[in-house]
Amino acid sequence: MKKILLFFLFVFLLPVAANAQSKPDLRTPHEKNGANYTATHIEAIAYYELLAKYFPEKCTLLKYENATDVGKPLHLFVAGETNVVRIRDTPKPKIMIVNGIHPGEPEGIDAVMALCRDLLTKKRELLDRLVLLVVPIYNVDGACVRGCCSRANQNGPDEYGFRANGQNLDLNRDFMKADTRNAKTFQRIFHAFDPDVFMDNHTSNGADYQHTVTVIGTQHSKLTEDFGRFVKTEFVPAMYKDMDAKGWRLAPYVVTKGSTPDSGIVGFFDTPRFSRGYVALFNSIGFITETHMLKPFVERVRATYDLNETLLQQTVVYAERIKTLRKKNEVEDFAAPHRMVWKRDETRADTIVFDGYEAAYRTSAVTGQLQLYYDQTKPYTRKIPFYDYYNFTIERSKPYAYIVPQAWERAVEGLKNNAVPMKRLARDTILEVEVRYIENFKTVLEPYEGHYLHYDVQTRTQTARVPFFKGDWFVELTPRYATFLMEALEPEADDSYFAWNFFDACLMQKEGFSPYVFDTVAERLLKQNPNLKTEFELWKQINSPSAREQLDFIYKRSPYYEPFHNRYPVVALPKPIVLPLTD
Ligand SMILES: [Zn+2]
Repeated sequence: MKKILLFFLFVFLLPVAANAQSKPDLRTPHEKNGANYTATHIEAIAYYELLAKYFPEKCTLLKYENATDVGKPLHLFVAGETNVVRIRDTPKPKIMIVNGIHPGEPEGIDAVMALCRDLLTKKRELLDRLVLLVVPIYNVDGACVRGCCSRANQNGPDEYGFRANGQNLDLNRDFMKADTRNAKTFQRIFHAFDPDVFMDNHTSNGADYQHTVTVIGTQHSKLTEDFGRFVKTEFVPAMYKDMDAKGWRLAPYVVTKGSTPDSGIVGFFDTPRFSRGYVALFNSIGFITETHMLKPFVERVRATYDLNETLLQQTVVYAERIKTLRKKNEVEDFAAPHRMVWKRDETRADTIVFDGYEAAYRTSAVTGQLQLYYDQTKPYTRKIPFYDYYNFTIERSKPYAYIVPQAWERAVEGLKNNAVPMKRLARDTILEVEVRYIENFKTVLEPYEGHYLHYDVQTRTQTARVPFFKGDWFVELTPRYATFLMEALEPEADDSYFAWNFFDACLMQKEGFSPYVFDTVAERLLKQNPNLKTEFELWKQINSPSAREQLDFIYKRSPYYEPFHNRYPVVALPKPIVLPLTD
């Protein structure tokens, strides 16, 4: 709690004036400027300032300085509770909405401004039953470089921001690695308030179909049984029903199994690099809205408004269940082994009703080859399979604690920024522990979001005496942080700090040998060690190695070879251990 209070010291509450006499014009820039207009960053912040000014008893606007990669502040609009230190433990449901993570997909920016105004005026009954946290525009950097055309296939607005941020990074891949100041600020905000439910508003690419808006919820397979069942069979269907009543047929976000939706669609998997996957590590139910790029902008804004309002309404209806199940999931999950690296179950699907357009092929005048198109004159409503079940491929016992050597500062910084409770070793210590060696991994060939991301990581375990130093970080697992810590620190996890290159230096060998000297040493080692000789001969028969490779084989099995090469620096302690620790 001390940390959280300290965090608020760095937040500036914007000055709030008393209610003015004259009635303000509360139309949003989108409402004022026409159907194909989306608010600029300056206009959006000015609008929320206006709301904070005229409804000071119900809302406030927080400003986080130097919080983006272009040096601009990040804002958080808070409604339903103005005393921010009370929010974390409020009995009311807390909903966080993030807009403009991709500023070229700006419906959320405009829709949520209007929604906040309506909650403060004609929908106060709903506002009184919840706490709303809105990031007006998360990718401030991208929103400030507006243009007409970066979303080549999108039907408006006329001008909008760019997808990437100031570092040319996609913020919706940055939630774990947190390369950007935006993501670091987001992590601090997220932990300060701990929202129960989370929404991230987007526009889709891909196939054409009739639905104006689609939605992805937290992947239910990853949650414990009761919580997963609640999300999939109660909460999400309640949202569908509510949207139906508002005249919108919802569908799951369309990722086609084959080339077109009638082949079936698959549940998009949310590893923690994505907003929805990240918040799920902390038992927040996450959603992503995806409106369809070919529908008119004004219609997309309306659908986004309705879906965000539906989320608030259904969260209020299920508030007690959500609070109880979040707690239960945290406790049950902590007691169970950690499941990770998930694969879709291709044998299991639900049947859903989908409103599509018939797909056909024509010969392209450009390429002379067959080109897929969707025929809007041939709409269909059809039952299609929805592959929305995932199975884990690795199950690992939760350790009692990790030791993260202070030398690996980037990892330590990541844990600190997520407010993970940690202690430090009080003196230098040598411990006999199980260490992990990176045996195998693959790496993407092109830079991906500023990294050469690793995947298909395999490790082997070995007992070793390892020196630790005064000040190294001792991280005991707690229910809130266990899942996050395992996804960050188990090297095999999809978005582990190892996968994102935080530990790449451990993969390089620092010392070696000169063959003309080591040849004699190798001869002696083989004589002294018959088991090594047998292993060596067998390996030689199978691999036909060069002379250098043969000496290297013996070197790597000799005391001369450094123990640190390929050794993963973070150590998992399976059982409680008494160590001298300080705060
Ligand atoms: Zn997007």
